[in-house]
Amino acid sequence: MIAAKPSKKAQVMSSTNGNADFAALTDDSYRLLLDEVGAFVYTTDKEGRYTFANRMVLQLLGHPLEEVLGKDISHFFGDKGNEALRETDRRVLQDGETIAREESNLILTTGELRTYWSTKKPLRDATGHIIGLIGISHDITEKKRLEDKLRRQKELLDALVDNVDALIYMKDANRRFLYANRRMAETFGCSVEQIIGSLDTDLMPAEVAERFWQQDQKILASGQRHACEESLVDAGGQLRHYWSVIIPWAGPDGTPAIIGLSTDITELHALKEELRRQARADSLTGIANRRSFYENAEQEFARSRLCGQALSLITIDIDFFKRINDSLGHPMGDRVLQEFVARCQDALRAEHLLARTGGEEFCILLPATDLDAAHRLAESIRQQTEARPILVPERELRISASFGVAGLCDSDERFETLYSRADLALYAAKQQGRNRTSLLRSPAQEGASSSQN
Ligand code: GH3
Ligand code: MG
Ligand code: MG
Repeated sequence: MIAAKPSKKAQVMSSTNGNADFAALTDDSYRLLLDEVGAFVYTTDKEGRYTFANRMVLQLLGHPLEEVLGKDISHFFGDKGNEALRETDRRVLQDGETIAREESNLILTTGELRTYWSTKKPLRDATGHIIGLIGISHDITEKKRLEDKLRRQKELLDALVDNVDALIYMKDANRRFLYANRRMAETFGCSVEQIIGSLDTDLMPAEVAERFWQQDQKILASGQRHACEESLVDAGGQLRHYWSVIIPWAGPDGTPAIIGLSTDITELHALKEELRRQARADSLTGIANRRSFYENAEQEFARSRLCGQALSLITIDIDFFKRINDSLGHPMGDRVLQEFVARCQDALRAEHLLARTGGEEFCILLPATDLDAAHRLAESIRQQTEARPILVPERELRISASFGVAGLCDSDERFETLYSRADLALYAAKQQGRNRTSLLRSPAQEGASSSQN
């Protein structure tokens, strides 16, 4: 835009300036250089009137040099929206400051707001008086747009990853966290900044970190995505459950890393556990149901055989229970069942397994208990049942039950065999008049014996 010839004023200014050899501006090659410099270069006098403008400035203003020189910059940019720009110029021209900063110009001809990185410096005469300014500006509008776009995208992404009900993290192959979202920081009771750069062992107990690390290593080695359920004790001491998807990924610098997304399923897990518990529990009494009893009993049977440990079984059937239902009604029969269970539980230890295997039929599995001890326990419950009447509205109800006892012997290859023997013993107790404990030994256990109240 210096276009044709710099104005006289520019020549005067230049020739008198000790800092910059503006006389050179009269030289075509220097003008050409300033035209090609790839930045907006201009000078103004003390009142802000153009004394020089290179080709980029002229193109921006949309006027030839002759129409630009001597005109105030507000002539082209207007005053509105350009207050900050004018304030910068004032500080340079009046206070003699050199200012490098970001500026925005509202271009009147196009109505466009453009952004520049501008350096403005006062121009002084030989006596040091400020006679104008020189400005060099780089158009950073596109760069700013890109930065704004990236910033908005990052804000959107941050909002997403920080508000999703999941822990999101990135970890490198040296066990160091490269990224963590806010939920992750909350779970570990620290800040995101504290997590990033930390080792997994800094954040969690060594054995927990090791467990995760073993899994991470497999994922890194296989390059395969992995999904699983995981548990973690959070900063508040609560055990939380997650559904985790872990993906192998190249870290920011291309080194191997993993990305983990762990969705909090603690409530779902509790619900699942409750359903599982319900599926295994008898709804009336809360003790193990028949299915659960058989599963546990088979396992315990196998374990006892393997370890050569004693195992006994008591089968129980309440006597004449039908009469209770018939005389007092089904709901009262239910209460009797509940009360009977409560009394059995009082007599048992934690390792004993009490289950309701039928309507008024129960089983007690007794690990590490020999036949005689089991017999004593059954007899004790029988006596208690008989001795303590159950209180139901307006009366005391006396009930009794029959008990069958059997113990594991070497020839029992299946739990069913032991169970059948206990059942046969119960049958014998019923046959012998009820309210009895009957013990049936296998042939190897020297025949059967029974005791009567
Ligand atoms: P026995 O001395 O020979 O064992 O006689 P019993 O009457 O106890 O035996 P029976 O098998 O004839 O009757 C069992 C009764 O238990 C029949 C059934 O109505 C009742 N029963 C089964 N389940 C429940 C229940 O959940 N609640 C109630 N109240 N009664 C039940
Ligand atoms: Mg029965
Ligand atoms: Mg019965």
